[in-house]
Amino acid sequence: MRKLLFLNFLLICAITHAQKIDISTASKFITADGLKEHLSVIASAEMQGREAGTEGERKAAAYLISQYKKFNLKPGFNGNYKLPFTLYQDVAATSELKINGEPATLDEDYWTNASYLPTNALKTNAIIYVGSEFNEKTKLDVKGKILVATENEENSLRKVAAAQKLGAAAMIIVSKTNTNAPSANTGRPRLAQKPTGFSYFKVTKSFGSKLVGGSKAYSDQEWSEIPKGIYTTNIEWKVEQHAKEMPSANVIAYLPAKEKTDEYLFITSHYDHEGIKNGVIYYGADDDGSGTASVVAIAGAFANAAKQGFVPKRNIVFMNVSGEEKGLLGSKYYSEHPVFPLEKTTADLNIDMVGRIDPTYNGDSNNYVYIIGEEKISSDLQKITNSINNEAGHLEIDRRFNDPNDPNRFYYRSDHYNFANKGVPVLFYFNGTHRDYHQPSDTIEKINFDLMEKRVRFIFKTAWEIAMKDEMLKRDMPLDMPGR
Ligand SMILES: [Zn+2]
Repeated sequence: MRKLLFLNFLLICAITHAQKIDISTASKFITADGLKEHLSVIASAEMQGREAGTEGERKAAAYLISQYKKFNLKPGFNGNYKLPFTLYQDVAATSELKINGEPATLDEDYWTNASYLPTNALKTNAIIYVGSEFNEKTKLDVKGKILVATENEENSLRKVAAAQKLGAAAMIIVSKTNTNAPSANTGRPRLAQKPTGFSYFKVTKSFGSKLVGGSKAYSDQEWSEIPKGIYTTNIEWKVEQHAKEMPSANVIAYLPAKEKTDEYLFITSHYDHEGIKNGVIYYGADDDGSGTASVVAIAGAFANAAKQGFVPKRNIVFMNVSGEEKGLLGSKYYSEHPVFPLEKTTADLNIDMVGRIDPTYNGDSNNYVYIIGEEKISSDLQKITNSINNEAGHLEIDRRFNDPNDPNRFYYRSDHYNFANKGVPVLFYFNGTHRDYHQPSDTIEKINFDLMEKRVRFIFKTAWEIAMKDEMLKRDMPLDMPGR
């Protein structure tokens, strides 16, 4: 009896200790001024637009790490705050193309794109002409084949992507307009060390007629009458190329749990942006300086709460990824090389653009946030969001972009997607776009820090709630849901 009493006494002490700081008091550590302080470093000229693989990115990473160290958070990757990865970018040096033995002149008869170069050479004596309509649903065995399509109104790269997806070896597009930009000599950065080898080039209508047995340039009318099918054509395309290596890194730190030490809650942003183009800095204050300053501020608030006795039930991981602007590459790398098991990751709360107002928003524009993706994997998330907001947030929660038919497809356009793709419940916080989106004019003086403070406190409270839940969020939504 005495012993039990003593145990109860200990328990009460522990509870009192844990309750030294409550969620509302803790959230007040996040302030408009504090957010501004972080963002004025992150979106400064010194960071040179933070392009992945550049000095600006490394400076931004150094700032983030300095903050996580100051907060006494643990390094997230083998004792390091950086999770390094390499981006590869193909650079074309020379290109020689012959069709039926006749040499073509680059940028006159044909155009190349360094994202789609053959590994050494492309050689064939047959092609399949598919006409102007070609997409993923085309019922044709194209595996390993070289396809020729004529250009129509849609972006030709859609046909290229479809051909690649269906396993073709190459796609040649016969240009409709012949007013093509010069060949792109540098490709899109990628994660894989080896290029896919999938080839693509564009050719003029006149030179392209050789691909389908023509001995003269075909008119538009003649092109439209050419039967689809296999043609005997000799193609020889030789390129010299190399891959430029660009070291990059995600920044990762965490607040350790005492209870559920093998479970994790992620809070993410991308800290890279567009860098410098034609001598002009793209500051990316909103995109995604705002999300990055938010993650740092949330980390600071949790660290402060921890000092005052708060211990999260599960680990809270703060990750700022790079390479988002190159195609969500930093988060893709993480999702393919997770440091913490994804099946033990209860959720990813991703913050990408939370400092501005969407001019088309027609509610209380000083008091809203768009929420995207919460209904895709776990039915728990929406309930948590609503209950936090009813108790303490009082923001206008706008879920319009969850509509799978929304043409913006925002759900697929930030880093949470790579978590969702692996089955981790996600929530994406977003302010919508504006005229400065991806412009050099996305600068700090346009940020609304009072509104940002409301949003970030709300995200903090949501994170707290998820970190303290007895169970991980259940993953109960059907995987074949449209838009998933
Ligand atoms: Zn962004």
